[in-house]
Amino acid sequence: MIDIHCHLCYPQGYENPEEIVKKAKEKGMKGIIASSARFDESLRVLEFAKKHPDFVFPTIGYHPIEGTELEKTIQLIKNQRKNIVGVGEVGLDYHWEKDLKKREKQKEVFKKFISLAKELGLPLVIHSWDAEKDCFEMVKDSEVNCVFHCFSGSLDLAKEIISSGFWISISTQICFSKHHKKLAKLVPLENILLETDSPWLSPNRGEKNYPWNIRCSAEKISKIKGIPAEEILELTWENARRVFGLGVTKKT
Ligand SMILES: [Zn+2]
Repeated sequence: MIDIHCHLCYPQGYENPEEIVKKAKEKGMKGIIASSARFDESLRVLEFAKKHPDFVFPTIGYHPIEGTELEKTIQLIKNQRKNIVGVGEVGLDYHWEKDLKKREKQKEVFKKFISLAKELGLPLVIHSWDAEKDCFEMVKDSEVNCVFHCFSGSLDLAKEIISSGFWISISTQICFSKHHKKLAKLVPLENILLETDSPWLSPNRGEKNYPWNIRCSAEKISKIKGIPAEEILELTWENARRVFGLGVTKKT
């Protein structure tokens, strides 16, 4: 099993990411994709992943609200191409951003990252809170392999995303949300990835989340689809390997 979106090195996240990795291995995990939202987090993720080259796989991004150092981030992604498995998280956030002009600015920035992912041949990890439709419109003809991280959009949009061959990443929100259960019912396993968005979105609301809690999501999906949880964890691991080229992208 693999958590495809965890903020392992978020500055105010875990006190000791080393402990998280150790425990994740004990719990039978095969890897963690360590996401980044802002520049200081990106540097930490890259540094930390060096110590765990076969277990921690970084993606470097620029969160639409929290992102810092846009130009430096773009340069970092280019320089670190061989050491990362994706561009993200990047995207649009209309939940926190209500100002229309600023939303346009978010789109301009997102466009840059779509082109960058295409140029570098990397998948794009998309943050799309309350902006799922606009994100989809911007990427649908991009020829970039897209992962809708923490997808919470409509069932109709999920259908369009699937028919475009993209990926829906279901977070641990499924453990407490009816809407996410409906999404899991609709989306074929071939298009599903599992994530926690740790340290946020714990199945035990209000507590800290951990990568191994994707097992809770797999158990929920197991009930919905009538497939053993272990099989779901195995299939979503295979999906993640394909999306992020794990085992193919060798570190130099
Ligand atoms: Zn995230």
